[in-house]
Parts: sequence; C-alpha cells; structure tokens
Amino acid sequence: MKRSMLSAALGLALAAGLAVLPATAAAAAPAAPAAQGYTASTYAGSAVETADNQAFFQAVMASAKAKQAANPGLATVVVTYDASSAPTFRNQISQAAQIWNGSVANVQLRSGSAADFKYYEGNDSRGSYASTDGHGRGYIFLDYQQNRQYNSVRVTAHETGHVLGLPDHYSGPCSELMSGGGPGTSCTNPYPNSTERSRVNSLWARG
Ligand SMILES: [Zn+2]
Repeated sequence: MKRSMLSAALGLALAAGLAVLPATAAAAAPAAPAAQGYTASTYAGSAVETADNQAFFQAVMASAKAKQAANPGLATVVVTYDASSAPTFRNQISQAAQIWNGSVANVQLRSGSAADFKYYEGNDSRGSYASTDGHGRGYIFLDYQQNRQYNSVRVTAHETGHVLGLPDHYSGPCSELMSGGGPGTSCTNPYPNSTERSRVNSLWARG
C-alpha cells in the first residue's frame, strides 16, 4: 500500500470512530475500512473486503499452523484467542467457540495466551467486524449497539466464522451463519449450516 493510501485509510478509520479502540488495536488496524462486517449496509461485500478477509484468514492459519508444526502430536489445528479486551462479551465469545468446536473437526478454538487473534469491544458506527494488519495478527471488534440490536451470540459466532475463513453472504437465509444481519434482527440462529461446516473443515484439512 502506498503511503498516501495508508494515510487516507487511517484517516477514514479515525473518522469512523476507530479511536475508541485500545492503542494496540488501532495501531494494527490500517486496513479496517475493508474489514468484514455483520450487516450489508456498512460492508457491501466489495472485492477489497473479500481480499481483506482472505488475508486475515491466511494470517490466522499461518500462525496456528506454525504452532502445530512445533507440536506434531496435534491432530487438529488449534487457533488460540484472547478475549480479555472484550469482557462484556465473555459469555458470547465462549459460546461462539463452543459452537464452532462442536461444528467442525479440523480446527478448534481455545482461549489462551500468545493468541492468534483477539476480541475487542466498543462503539463503531459501522458495527462489528473482523480485520487484520496483514502481518499475522488479526482481531474481531464487537460493537455494543449492534450486539443489542441483533442476537449477540450470532454476531460473535459470525465474526469468528471470518477467522475460520468464511466470507459474508448477506443474501442467505437465517439458517446460514454468514448471512449475518441480512435476515434481520429477528434471526437468532448462531450455528453454521452443513455447507459452512464442510467449507471450514476443507479449509483446515491437514495437508
Ligand atoms: Zn461478516
């Protein structure tokens, strides 16, 4: 990215309210305007967004697989998360991890130190999203207002789905987790459907 573009992106991020993030997250967030959100109104599913999600997924996978290589006895790729900066959503994050761990076999989420990605919370007019700095570090931002408006476990499980490699599909039904806010606020399903489960298992299959 050119320096001028980076400056513009940072300016956008600050104007959009990213300054409420902890300093560590703000410093790692120049690509945030292209992040993957929960609703189509704020994140239109552009090519830039798709590319950003892909970069995030690859960064998380590279970090997780590096750990696995250091411990060949592991049959499953373990992705470690840090929820300490999103205390309001501790239960939702835990439930989202349990949902995904019960849904797929080839990758499992664990809370722990030296995390592959972090959760943050705050106020952002664009809602919740997943983002990356493109250098092996990513984070999920959970917006207070959106998590009151929509089912909070579904929002959290949806954003966690981006970590596992799934893109947005806002036109999908409520039974699809990655349709996000598309089916409206009455949709409370926090579970990925069979297609989404298969896709994550394929993405994380060994070899
Ligand atoms: Zn999304």
